[in-house]
Amino acid sequence: MDCIFCKIVAGKIPSLKIFENDHIFSFLDIGPLSDGHALVIPKKHHKFLHEMSEEESAEIGRALPKISKAIITATAAPGYNILQNNGNVAGQLVGHVHFHIIPREEEDGLGFRWNPKLYPENKAKLIQEMIMKELKL
Ligand code: AMP
Ligand code: ZN
Repeated sequence: MDCIFCKIVAGKIPSLKIFENDHIFSFLDIGPLSDGHALVIPKKHHKFLHEMSEEESAEIGRALPKISKAIITATAAPGYNILQNNGNVAGQLVGHVHFHIIPREEEDGLGFRWNPKLYPENKAKLIQEMIMKELKL
């Protein structure tokens, strides 16, 4: 499989690794938005978050707080963003699930504001019902 992150996990491409266990690999982003910007990935290849098994998802859930804590302690950052893009339309450039941990500073100039909209009449309820049907609740 021609996936750059699979190659990093396999050690075929160098990376600055910060954490590894049986399921998870984490390394510094090659184009950091801030000092300590890191990526956390499952070792198994999936493009989308929703393709991961419950077990893999749980491993990600266990790793993220631990790695985040190490990063903000090491960098003394007062905050951070967790960013996870799915699909090209959402800005995913590398097609292997990855979570960004992005340390933030006061007035670091990175910004992060999206423009919220309002649902037209009844649309929210309709969408709620459609999603809950999929979740079989
Ligand atoms: P995304 O837009 O969410 O798919 O982000 C992909 C991220 O992967 C970007 O922040 C890149 O800087 C990063 N990236 C791409 N190639 C490498 C690499 N070889 N080592 C570390 N990070 C990488
Ligand atoms: Zn991959």
